[in-house]
Amino acid sequence: LGDKLGNVFDGLTGRGALSESDVNKAMREIRIALLEADVALPVVKQFVEKVRKEAVGEKVIKSIKPGQMVVKIVNDALIDMLGGTLSDDDADKAEAAKANALNLAGRPPVAILMAGLQGSGKTTTTGKLGLYLRTALKKKVLFASLDTNRPAAMDQLGMLAEQAGTGFLPIVKGETALQIAKRAMSEGAKGGYDVVFLDTAGRTTVNDELMDEVEAIAKATNPIETLLVADSLTGQDAVETANRFNARLPLTGLVLTRIDGDGRGGAALSMRAVTGLPIKFLGTGEKLDGLEAFDAERLAGRILGQGDIVSLVEKASQVINEKDAALAAEKMRKGQFDLDDLAKQLGQMQKMGGMGGLMKLMPGMGKMKKQLDAAGGVDDKLLKQQQAIILSMTPHERQNPGVLKASRKKRIAAGSGMSVQEVNKLLKMHRQMSDMMKKMSKGGMAGMMQAMQG
Ligand code: GDP
Ligand code: MG
Repeated sequence: LGDKLGNVFDGLTGRGALSESDVNKAMREIRIALLEADVALPVVKQFVEKVRKEAVGEKVIKSIKPGQMVVKIVNDALIDMLGGTLSDDDADKAEAAKANALNLAGRPPVAILMAGLQGSGKTTTTGKLGLYLRTALKKKVLFASLDTNRPAAMDQLGMLAEQAGTGFLPIVKGETALQIAKRAMSEGAKGGYDVVFLDTAGRTTVNDELMDEVEAIAKATNPIETLLVADSLTGQDAVETANRFNARLPLTGLVLTRIDGDGRGGAALSMRAVTGLPIKFLGTGEKLDGLEAFDAERLAGRILGQGDIVSLVEKASQVINEKDAALAAEKMRKGQFDLDDLAKQLGQMQKMGGMGGLMKLMPGMGKMKKQLDAAGGVDDKLLKQQQAIILSMTPHERQNPGVLKASRKKRIAAGSGMSVQEVNKLLKMHRQMSDMMKKMSKGGMAGMMQAMQG
């Protein structure tokens, strides 16, 4: 998805506000990209419409590709749709986090019912959540297997209970799933447990028999959480499954497993959008530590596949002085990138966390980083030293680096407390940068970023 979107955004080269046709073109691509990422069609439509509205006429920072602004709009829309908050307000953040966390507020023992298709990861997730509740929240946890058909399923849960250090309720021969569930609740109460996990038997497809059984269990045990566990790799099918379970059970949340596989995150977006249920956890591996509390921002990043491009855009928009950038761009086009301009660029780099920080944020930086390394321009401490060297030059020298012969270099070196060799390195870097920048269509820090990404 990332590559695809990257191409979309490269195509958006307009300046200022995005034109409607820019946006429409991008939306077509985003639509395809989302469909390829397994997002359900109605969700895609809804999503694209939302983004389109925001992108048309959105004020775009002049020195940055409008495309990146669209990336940000798309990203924000993803976060919003995934149930995250875009607010910086701590109270809002806390509320969003609470909606995505397990609810345990009830008279103990509270029941957590695990529902889902066979093989979706219910039993494994039970083990993971049990370990998490026992260790992080100091809860006394009981596991009960309701799978009367497959003895192996019970053994699997028993082993997980041992690993997680939780209690385990074995099945008594001849019991029905409903009977075990009721017994689990009474044993849970007797044993002073806080939480009882009811790990239901799955079926390979949703059928009435399964639904009747799980529905009866839910009625009898009144779970505080009824979690639908779904395999993120099943994509579109997961959405259909979620709909059917949601129609019969009072679901309280979703757990998406196998996020560690090459699932594209689209299932999560669809399930959340279609059911309106919060995603509470992600399964990220087979082992018991393979559990992540759901984080809308992180998943949006995964879906978008653009790494930290978005935070880069945000950072850049904070520090880049638009006028300076436009001026530098103009000079570069004319091949007049002088040392004053370099000093400004260095200052901007510093504000953005130095080149090291920048490089980490940007995809495809290998070649550029090597070039700058060779020129000695990557070290963040060097940025300051390089600025000092430039400050020791006269205005005339800064605008005409060609006049810098040996004696002037010596004076500058002494003035900045650096060696002549270092002055030479800086001048070499300036030459390389101005060469590079001449090749760019647009200038400023933004132009540089574009060249780096390209
Ligand atoms: P259940 O039938 O719903 O109880 O599914 P299980 O818990 O038995 O899981 C089925 C298979 O999926 C097992 O081999 C698990 O190890 C595996 N599994 C479950 N969750 C994850 C996950 O988040 N990542 C990976 N890679 N495998 C998982
Ligand atoms: Mg199971």
